[in-house]
Amino acid sequence: MTLRRSAVLAAAAVLLLSGCTSFVDTVTARNGADAEASALDEGGCPDRRAEPDPERPEISLDFRLADDRRSVTGTETVVFTPDLDVRELVFRLVPNGPDSAPAGNRLVVDEVRGDDVAGGRYEAAGAVDPGGLYVVELEGELAAGESTEVELDFSLALGAGGFDRFGVDGEVSWWASGAPLLAWEPGVGWAQDPFVDVGGETATSPVADTVVTVSAPEDLTVLMTGVRAAPSAPQEGRRTWTSEEPVARDVGVAAGPFATTDVTTPGGTRLTTGVLPGGDVSGDVLSAWTASAITDLESFLGPFPYGTLTVALLPDHGGGIEYPSMIFEASPSREVLVHEVAHQWFYGMVGNSQFRDPWLDEAFASWAEAVVDPGSGLVSEDALTSPGPVGAAMDEYESTRSYFRQVYDKGGAALLAAQRAAGEEAFDAAIRCYVDATAWSIATPTDVYRVLDDLPAALDVLIDAGALGKDDVPG
Ligand SMILES: [Zn+2]
Repeated sequence: MTLRRSAVLAAAAVLLLSGCTSFVDTVTARNGADAEASALDEGGCPDRRAEPDPERPEISLDFRLADDRRSVTGTETVVFTPDLDVRELVFRLVPNGPDSAPAGNRLVVDEVRGDDVAGGRYEAAGAVDPGGLYVVELEGELAAGESTEVELDFSLALGAGGFDRFGVDGEVSWWASGAPLLAWEPGVGWAQDPFVDVGGETATSPVADTVVTVSAPEDLTVLMTGVRAAPSAPQEGRRTWTSEEPVARDVGVAAGPFATTDVTTPGGTRLTTGVLPGGDVSGDVLSAWTASAITDLESFLGPFPYGTLTVALLPDHGGGIEYPSMIFEASPSREVLVHEVAHQWFYGMVGNSQFRDPWLDEAFASWAEAVVDPGSGLVSEDALTSPGPVGAAMDEYESTRSYFRQVYDKGGAALLAAQRAAGEEAFDAAIRCYVDATAWSIATPTDVYRVLDDLPAALDVLIDAGALGKDDVPG
């Protein structure tokens, strides 16, 4: 996610300061980290990018956008094979968070089914009614390595369009994190972090082999995460759109009178951009911006993580939000777009707890944008001396403004300074090592520490900025 600078100030002005909920760090061993630690501990980087966990969840999402385009009903089917013993499944209901619900967004679980299912309950977790988490209780313990299938029916209300993951504005409707989000952190357990009244993400989710189906009024074009097939023929005024993405942590969907442009990048990524009538940027320009962002970022981060990327240009609400192989671009800004494309590596592929370690996606996306576009102004280098640690959790920021200042500005500036201190070539090689080793897992600051262990000048910069601390030293 990023906001244009003016939008940050506006958001900060209207958001009330929230009381901080203390966060008990229950992090223990992390399977993903342990798996790649062995390669890194042996003194080298992996020869190639890590593969996604073959036991990852299989998720099918079936959405139906209502004729009035203001609500979605759906069914989510999850086949889940935990790597730790569990007695329940936990889903995060992102639309019910305090930063989304006031606009009228709401997600309700209507029914849950499954051979092993005993029932379901909501937990508030700092969100509005009916709650921020939905817990599916199992009849008994599900042992690590065993599978269960759970089906949830849900209803999603879309609120007034704004800079958010859900909304309706004119003829376009969009939603992301719009279904119950499986909140599993492999090797750690359920991510039950509280919601906070700060304008940023707080979810953690594993990559999943995902199929998305969207039924929408026939006059709308649907853009979404994944490889999209041609829509069905119209039937009773509706068309059905389907896509697949084998490594999606979440999905984004936008439905509207989009005109689409398809191009293939030099690296082979199939790119689809969608522009509404009267959009601020033409499809050709948006595609050219996106294709060059991918090529520029690939030059130091390695191949684009997905086979496809879809960019929906929404009405100008002042920023952009990233989803796996999908971007909601709510600002006609090339710099914001580069930041969101960088998130396809940092968040999409290299996952993180967006609650516990928001800097792992936001500071890295900010840094990557600044490398591609020196002087774009999204990262201000003098932020390095501003107060507060880069590496705080989401409940430790007193406002959206301080969150952006510390994580985006200071975090991006710290990574630029670390790159300069270590030498560009050595730093870029270390980051490439981090990206390849932690691909498709949930990375941690310890993983960053480990790849920089031989670059003490870079490590010193990140320690001074409060990005890394003594808890992050590899054991
Ligand atoms: Zn961002």
